[in-house]
Amino acid sequence: MSVHRLGEMRYPEVAALIEAAARSVAILPAGSVEAHGPHLPLSTDTMISEAVAMRAAIGFAEHGWTAVVFPPVHYGVTDWAAAFSGSTSIPADVTHGLFLSAAKAARAMGFTRVALTNAHLEPGHIKVLRDVTKAYEAETGEPLVFADKTRRKNAARLTQEFQSGSCHAGQYETSLILAIRPDLVRTDLMPALPEHHVALHEKIAAGAKDFVDCGLDQAYCGRPADATAEEGERSLRTLAAMVVEAVVASVD
Ligand SMILES: [Zn+2]
Repeated sequence: MSVHRLGEMRYPEVAALIEAAARSVAILPAGSVEAHGPHLPLSTDTMISEAVAMRAAIGFAEHGWTAVVFPPVHYGVTDWAAAFSGSTSIPADVTHGLFLSAAKAARAMGFTRVALTNAHLEPGHIKVLRDVTKAYEAETGEPLVFADKTRRKNAARLTQEFQSGSCHAGQYETSLILAIRPDLVRTDLMPALPEHHVALHEKIAAGAKDFVDCGLDQAYCGRPADATAEEGERSLRTLAAMVVEAVVASVD
């Protein structure tokens, strides 16, 4: 089936689609422009987030929901990778305003629910998204659905490496990009990237302020050399299911 992508539709088609749907959901993917090792593209998080939204849209159809995937927000709070070229951060208040405005605009179109997908795990960015859900709920009286994969019960469904916290541009994310955009992975460099175990959540708790503090001298941790497209495909299915389940549960 074809997925509805807002940026590729004409406005009368959007109105007609929402009008005809029993239940409709706008999915807004959150990304980042951030160094992801020497082997993955800077828009890794955006690509994952958008792919999860696209995959979730197929799952929604099976539940009788009509989903529309919005153009992704390519930028977020990305201070941790500032030492690595290309990483482009925007301030927390700008990020907050951007997501809250876009989510409220989607709601005003008549969608039953608005949902965020996100793959950028920087603490300052996650905090903004959580704050946005609170502000949205306070203003509209409705939930802004955010299937946050850093929450324990969601994380428990993902790979061992993800759960270990040693997962920036490692096996988990490299596998996802191998499944989504294999042409953008420098597979020639992967065998020369040794396992670099850094439990980021422990470093964060200990007061680390960026990837350099954490010892990520090549902007990665984990085991990128072990990545496979098959693992990425499995993660994608699980991540999409989390989004569908959270939205469906928010109305039942
Ligand atoms: Zn990432």
